Amino acid sequence: MDKADVVVVGAGPAGSTFAYHIARQGWNVILLEEHPLIGRPVQCAGLVSQRVLDMAGTSKMVRHHLGGATIWGPAMHPLKFQAGETRAHVISREELDFLLAERAARHNVSIRTNCKFRRISAPSTATRPTMTVEVETPGGNTEIETRLLVGADGVASTVARKLRLHRPIEILPAFEADIPFPAAAQDEVEIFLGRHLAPGFFGWSIPDGEGNVRVGVGTSARQGVLAIDGYRQLVRTMEKIHKSKFPGPIRTIVSGIPVGKVPKISTDHGLLIGDAAAQVKPLSGGGIFTGMRAAEIAAEVAHQALDAGDLSAARLRPYDTKWEEELGEEMERALYFRRLFMQLGDRELDRLLEVLRDTKLVSTIVAFGDIDFPTVTVRELLRQSPALVRLVPKAVSAYFRRRKDLAPDVLAS
Ligand SMILES: Cc1cc2nc3c(=O)[nH]c(=O)nc-3n(C[C@H](O)[C@H](O)[C@H](O)COP(=O)(O)OP(=O)(O)OC[C@H]3O[C@@H](n4cnc5c(N)ncnc54)[C@H](O)[C@@H]3O)c2cc1C
Repeated sequence: MDKADVVVVGAGPAGSTFAYHIARQGWNVILLEEHPLIGRPVQCAGLVSQRVLDMAGTSKMVRHHLGGATIWGPAMHPLKFQAGETRAHVISREELDFLLAERAARHNVSIRTNCKFRRISAPSTATRPTMTVEVETPGGNTEIETRLLVGADGVASTVARKLRLHRPIEILPAFEADIPFPAAAQDEVEIFLGRHLAPGFFGWSIPDGEGNVRVGVGTSARQGVLAIDGYRQLVRTMEKIHKSKFPGPIRTIVSGIPVGKVPKISTDHGLLIGDAAAQVKPLSGGGIFTGMRAAEIAAEVAHQALDAGDLSAARLRPYDTKWEEELGEEMERALYFRRLFMQLGDRELDRLLEVLRDTKLVSTIVAFGDIDFPTVTVRELLRQSPALVRLVPKAVSAYFRRRKDLAPDVLAS
């Protein structure tokens, strides 16, 4: 039977980042990926901040830069922002995954593609400090004995279930397609709001810098519009804006975005990171930055636990605490603002954009805009605009007053 100090399931950004950081400390790591090729299929729009490039240690996967946004409300009156400088990067997600896995492999991580984690065949016990995991391969099932199992296996995490850790509160269905059509403004992301196309979330169009737009929709499953129908509606809307018929897509993505708070992300001999732990920004659905940062924190804690020869839940618990300290507040605020956003009907959404059209507020959005910490901007807007506060239930102002002194420390770093 194979043996490894750590088995990581899933070679996405979270899994490969964790594998790299823990292997650098000298631990023996096996990284399992169920697909034959790392990075495929792509299930992402590939919009990231500079922080992601810094954590990846490369910008090779960057295809394009964005410095502005246009938000379309249900009545189709645009609200535009332009920073005049790069605020987000459009990447090849396939290449990001590949580069991260390659970096892990350079540090002796044994990457096994076509290997699917099935179950824990023998759990650790008080007298047995390792567990055995069963892996399905094209040649039949095999087993690996390990001290630590890390679930980086995405939104439908099998590891989370096998470790008996709770699942995210809500999974937002999403549909995206790459359409070979030049965007109207090459350095802008377009956001589309409205209950007819994306109830409980939004639609987007992102130029990829290579002559295509990545057009997608996320919806709240509870609100009765299928993501594919929302997408079709969005394409019709965009065709009206561009006064032109769109060609068919060259690639489509169907996936889910986990939104909510998972109560525990560590247990005896087990950790969850990335989408498996619902470490996704609730207002945007972005999970690359949060998943990679969580992987870095988790690797630090795991290294200390392995070093101490103690992989108990108590020893791994600092991962939960450190994650909470660093990003918990932003996630909690974002979940709250998302709940408020979901209460807005189409008329209120249009009114919201009308209020935001104020030049001072537009400048605030440009000055504070940060795709990883959107609630900092929301908080600042609410501070400046009584008209905005009046739009949403009174609860927001109470919440805002309570939270006004909290700012994420990570912003300073
Ligand atoms: C339509 C859409 C657009 C998005 N756009 C953006 C965006 O623009 N920016 C952003 O930051 N985020 C975006 N996201 C979110 C982002 O894609 C995820 O948050 C991110 O991929 C999570 O990384 P991860 O490593 O946790 O999981 P994943 O990237 O999902 O990787 C999990 C890996 O585990 C593998 N796996 C699963 N089960 C097993 C198993 N049993 N055994 C072995 N391997 C297994 C999978 O094959 C996969 O490779 C988007 C999501 C969707 C759905």
